[in-house]
Amino acid sequence: LRARMEERLLGARFRYLNERLYTSSSREAARLFRGDPEAFEIYHQGFARQLARWPQNPADRIVRYLRRRPASLVVADFGCGDCKVARSVPNQVHCFDLLPLCPRVTVCDMAQVPLEAESVDVGVFCLALMGTNLQEILEEANRVLKPGGTLLVAEVASRFENLRTFLSAMAQLGFKSVSKDLSSSFFYLLEFTKTGAPTGRPVPALRLRPCLYKRR
Ligand code: SAH
Repeated sequence: LRARMEERLLGARFRYLNERLYTSSSREAARLFRGDPEAFEIYHQGFARQLARWPQNPADRIVRYLRRRPASLVVADFGCGDCKVARSVPNQVHCFDLLPLCPRVTVCDMAQVPLEAESVDVGVFCLALMGTNLQEILEEANRVLKPGGTLLVAEVASRFENLRTFLSAMAQLGFKSVSKDLSSSFFYLLEFTKTGAPTGRPVPALRLRPCLYKRR
């Protein structure tokens, strides 16, 4: 009984923290986790369990994409989690997250990463477009990407209310859609090219539904 109770509690804490990540700004999320590293661990245990239920791990798709391209490309992984991408490719990968699950991580809020402008060839958001300030986060990705650089977004399919609207919002942020893989019923893999700087105007169409998990 005790074990079952603890299991339930962990599940409930994970779902609560997950919801907080999707309904807070990235700054608030950074504050939340920095003040409570145990919460971060619980979040990640819960996340890993969710992922284990999926037929495919989106990070593997990102890895496959990168392995087909030159190893000289510099990558930035926003919200890298356990650094699966960095561990699986020969490229230089800058890993950013709120706390370090592995030693490669640079701890920061992904809305403000310690990289020079136009220093990265490939930006990655793998299940990491969280936070209510998505525009600011994507503007930061645009800043660090070289012109013509690639942005890869893997996101839970049900988060997209309307994919076309999302893609046109991305275009206003300087990211042209070049390919999309919608074949998985769980997540979409979207590839963009940086065409230029963001317009600087608010992009209200840039919306994604939060990904809330059910109690099981
Ligand atoms: N990309 C990894 C982890 C996805 S979980 C994978 O596919 O396995 C989402 C990750 O984004 C978490 O590790 C979370 O801590 C991180 N994250 C959320 N908001 C963030 C922020 N504002 N700055 C940096 N990392 C953030």
